[in-house]
Amino acid sequence: MGTPQTKSITEDPKLIEELNAMGPEDLLRWAWTNYGSRAGVITSFQNAGAVTIDMASRVAPDLRVMTVDTLRLPPETYALIDEIEARYGITIERFKPEPERVARMVKQHGEFLFFDSKVKQEYCCQIRKVEPNARALETVDVWITGLRQDQSDTRAETQKASYAPVSRGHVIKLAPLAEWSEGQLWDYVRQNNLPYNKLYDQGYRSIGCVICSTPTLPHEDARAGRWRWFNALEGNDKECGIHTNTMGGGI
Ligand code: SF4
Repeated sequence: MGTPQTKSITEDPKLIEELNAMGPEDLLRWAWTNYGSRAGVITSFQNAGAVTIDMASRVAPDLRVMTVDTLRLPPETYALIDEIEARYGITIERFKPEPERVARMVKQHGEFLFFDSKVKQEYCCQIRKVEPNARALETVDVWITGLRQDQSDTRAETQKASYAPVSRGHVIKLAPLAEWSEGQLWDYVRQNNLPYNKLYDQGYRSIGCVICSTPTLPHEDARAGRWRWFNALEGNDKECGIHTNTMGGGI
């Protein structure tokens, strides 16, 4: 598929209010009906992504599905991507970091720079996640994500519909499952026999890059396992920048 033409989005509070009143399937149907190939799911293939893709297969079957492949995903995630492509007969668009930037970063700071400091972790996330995600956002006007309120304190205010800034203005950002709990997702996955990331069976509750994601303890929030070595030292900021730096700048 060629890159779909984007159009400029004007902020419309009434539209956002109407979208926030819709259920997940109606939001997906709305995105597909109104924006076609200028709408897309960007997923990291956690349960919210699998549920979104399954719902879309019924109400918006040609909706684009994209992912940011940091080139450091766990084998279990790559296996799940293949499984989902086969199950739904879809091709998932993979946005990867630019090889020259990765090579320069690794030459300067080493492959495991994220252990050194929060600044270097954010630099690695910028190169491997935020910039490819910004490139994906250049191809859509409606960005569909799996963000949920119960993932962490920083995501507690997530709305089903909002605007997100991008370099050319704004995109409509939909989080159809924003109000779903982790338990609701698991109920849907089990009832519909959906494929899921096998790392969940090992105590993981939030899955990103290998090493930077670890299992969580029962009393911890779902994203506590991300960059665990920073918990005591540098606060509890568990965002990689994809949802906080949508412009993709800062490299
Ligand atoms: S999660 Fe870790 S490996 Fe992945 S981009 Fe961020 S710092 Fe780099």
